[in-house]
Amino acid sequence: MSSDGRYKALKGMQDILPPDIYIWQKVENAAREIFSSYGFKEIRPPVVESTDIFVRSIGENTDIVEKEMYTFNDKAERSITLRPEGTASVVRCYVENHLYNLPSPQKYYYSGPMFRYERPQSGRFRQFYQIGVESFGSPHPAMDADIISMLRHFLLRLGLKEVKFQVNSIGCERCRPDYKESLLAFFSDRLGNLCPDCRRRYGINPLRILDCKVERCIEMRADAPRITDSLCHDCRTHFDRLLSLLGILKVEYIVNPDMVRGLDYYTRTTFEVTSESLGSQNAVAAGGRYDRLVKEFGGPETPAIGFAVGMERIVELLKKSVRHEYPAPNLFIANIGDPAGKKSILIADELRNKGLWIELGDNETSLKSQMRRADKLSAEYVFIIGDDEINSGKLKWKRLSDSTNGEISLSEISSFFINK
Ligand code: ATP
Ligand code: MG
Repeated sequence: MSSDGRYKALKGMQDILPPDIYIWQKVENAAREIFSSYGFKEIRPPVVESTDIFVRSIGENTDIVEKEMYTFNDKAERSITLRPEGTASVVRCYVENHLYNLPSPQKYYYSGPMFRYERPQSGRFRQFYQIGVESFGSPHPAMDADIISMLRHFLLRLGLKEVKFQVNSIGCERCRPDYKESLLAFFSDRLGNLCPDCRRRYGINPLRILDCKVERCIEMRADAPRITDSLCHDCRTHFDRLLSLLGILKVEYIVNPDMVRGLDYYTRTTFEVTSESLGSQNAVAAGGRYDRLVKEFGGPETPAIGFAVGMERIVELLKKSVRHEYPAPNLFIANIGDPAGKKSILIADELRNKGLWIELGDNETSLKSQMRRADKLSAEYVFIIGDDEINSGKLKWKRLSDSTNGEISLSEISSFFINK
């Protein structure tokens, strides 16, 4: 019998359950390992922040701020927002805790849920998880290269090879205004053909037109001027040095001058990792440099760069491309009768203390049904204990994968797993 119950999770929000959770943990463990080896330390900022933190950093005229934020008033009528991304919170945290007083560069990673009120579809949720990194203090393209190659190592460690790296430079406050002018000139006699959103973007931030996903806007911008042709000398040098370092590190990439990213705070380097096997929501990770944000948040001038990985999409890719082995009990103890039941509890207690996963059979049920459960759990070994075993001091073990079996004495149990 099945029944849906009275309540459902909110639209676009999902429960993450076993066995998928093992893949999630695998991703989280790989992130922790790889990021630590590059000197990144974990921080855990709150999930809710003051609304202006996101409005000021992500930008008033971005999709996230215009349409996607979960914003509420708290009981004291303060406007608060469930974080739609991690960077703004981390920058707030960096400035508030004076982390800039520590030796530069300071490198941090975070992981946790993000919230965006988007139309739910495959690969797009309203609560989704990101693991992200932020590096503060280094303006050098070597840091950009380091971060991008760290992301590649992380994906390779997970076994994800079929991913594409796209990089771009969107310039700085010196060269971008000129580029915006040339975009305005280009689109001025094409405005009628753009989508209504882009017509509005034209007046506010024409760069956003390059990020539009509407087919006719993509067509319209095919011949638009390229930002990579408008970079100032310093931005050009920075970008060229990054590309040459990526070459040295053997990161395969393509330069995509349309990739402006959907957030306003970026300067210079932006990048994105995509996978063709994901369909239309194909970005698995994205990031970039944000050299002005710390200053805007009231901290000292601090160049910075980071990226965020979309967990659901990584897990989806792993489910498609990598074979998974899920953990199973090391031992199932089938037991019949009261004395055997008590002895089994003691054996389980001792072995669990050694870090083994032990499942106990239900003493009230038949041996047959206990064995069925051991099978279902895919336990590696089964012990069978009844009155005879208690009396003789010996018990029978069986390995379920190949049905090998044998006998050991009750007093030797603690050494049984040492040689297995
Ligand atoms: P997209 O182009 O897919 O909308 P984005 O540019 O909005 O992505 P970012 O803000 O850069 O995404 O977030 C980084 C990563 O987080 C994305 O590459 C993606 O993997 C993941 N992500 C973003 N939004 C969602 C969502 N609503 N559901 C699931 N994952 C998401
Ligand atoms: Mg988006």
